[in-house]
Amino acid sequence: MPKRIIYWFRNDLRLHDNEGFLKATQNADEVIPLYVFDTRQFEQIQPLGFPKTGQFRAKFLLESVQNLRDNLRKKGGNLLIRQGKPEAIISDLAREWEVEAIYTSKEATQEETDVETSLSKKLKVYNVDFEVFWGATLYHPRDLPFWVSRLPDVFTDFRKAVEKQSTIRSIFPEPISFKLPEGLETGKLPEIYELILFSLFPEVDPRTVLNFKGGETEALLRLQSYVWDTDHIKTYKETRNGLIGADYSSKLSPWLAYGCVSPRQIYEEIKRYEAERGANDSTYWLIFELIWRDYFRFVALKYGPRLFKPSGIQYNLELRWSHDREVFDKWVEGQTGVPFVDANMRELLLTGFMSNRGRQNVASFLAKDLGVDWTWGAAYFESQLLDYDVSSNWGNWNYVAGVGNDPRENRYFNPLTQATKYDPQGEYVKRWLPELANVPAEWIHKISSLTPDQLQKYGVKYSSPIVNTDK
Ligand code: FAD
Repeated sequence: MPKRIIYWFRNDLRLHDNEGFLKATQNADEVIPLYVFDTRQFEQIQPLGFPKTGQFRAKFLLESVQNLRDNLRKKGGNLLIRQGKPEAIISDLAREWEVEAIYTSKEATQEETDVETSLSKKLKVYNVDFEVFWGATLYHPRDLPFWVSRLPDVFTDFRKAVEKQSTIRSIFPEPISFKLPEGLETGKLPEIYELILFSLFPEVDPRTVLNFKGGETEALLRLQSYVWDTDHIKTYKETRNGLIGADYSSKLSPWLAYGCVSPRQIYEEIKRYEAERGANDSTYWLIFELIWRDYFRFVALKYGPRLFKPSGIQYNLELRWSHDREVFDKWVEGQTGVPFVDANMRELLLTGFMSNRGRQNVASFLAKDLGVDWTWGAAYFESQLLDYDVSSNWGNWNYVAGVGNDPRENRYFNPLTQATKYDPQGEYVKRWLPELANVPAEWIHKISSLTPDQLQKYGVKYSSPIVNTDK
């Protein structure tokens, strides 16, 4: 009887730097690579009514899984694709194919770890081993200079400690080949409407920053292009607050979120680039941002379910949040009457992406100007963002809403100040709000100050602000 292992791919849809998959190919005679579309991830978020995984991300995920299958075929194998509850599907497969062990990547957040626990319980009954591998961050949790329960609550303290005392492990090579058991029903890739009812592939808006396509192959091409072909990494620190175009920032986030590229792979490329073409503040700053990403992952481990509650990881029960659905919908649709906020929200609605600068502003606006429950905003981002990452999303929302680990109290993003600084000519606002196309730059962020004559002259049909932001 050959020794068999199921490798369950989750948010690690790649062959490079995938320790668990590599070990499965080394430790077994036959490997069954598996991806399960967990139906719970496509249900509606209640009471808000939008799907947990929206159409932009669903498309990206489908492309990523297809690409993984193609790449596994090149190694002599294939990918089994199923739809349902992973814990049930995997335990059934394990029995049917008499496998010795299930290997998978370790997740940090509640829903994901609940599935791990439930699967592990089922497998115990059948005496099947269950091994998890951590590969989602630059720093391995075991290499941190403190227990995760003692994680510093200020990012800078965390960063300084890991930079001084921890090392980043090297990447794992791709397996050369592996053998699949004969006679397996591999299963077909679902259509998008089988995942989200009545959904089709979204249209590509020509204004999108990048026509993102899922999969490891595309991820590595983007890395190559951003770092090596165009040298954009050399100016990252100066351009990263941009709003328009493919290259003001790396745009690697959607691929990182589904694990199509490993953060350590990016790190090694940057280090190689620094050795060959020189290091500067910008090359370091991309690593700095990846350390932020690590930090939120460890914050999620430390605080567990508190990350998702309106009181946040601070457990702040004094703040009162509004649940005004009408106001929230205006925010979602980009109809608040505040041009900089609306432009960003429309970009998200129509493309599934928004810059970091935009995210900080719209999140602050929802929580601090409108006083709406920030968890609604985070849930909408979960549905809509192409790069949705549980820890980064909920951690950043905690931070901006003032219930997370921001050492500065009452941080506030004033939309007018921010818009004037980051979109001085109104180019970005006009891109997403065509109804303001004829407004001169000096007025573009101050539409509510225009006289009725001016409104008519510039052909403005735009709502008044739903809240006064002059704080
Ligand atoms: P770059 O500027 O090129 O940065 C490189 C990488 O560093 C990113 O891909 C990302 O992995 C990481 N990174 C950069 N900034 C942050 C940050 N603030 N927190 C954590 N990681 C960071 N990022 C997500 O990946 N998924 C999310 O769901 C998400 N939700 C967010 C919600 C809010 C309210 C805010 C303020 C930020 C959120 N971010 C999230 C962080 C950040 O906005 C995005 O990572 C970034 O805009 C992605 O673009 P990029 O890949 O070009 O980033």
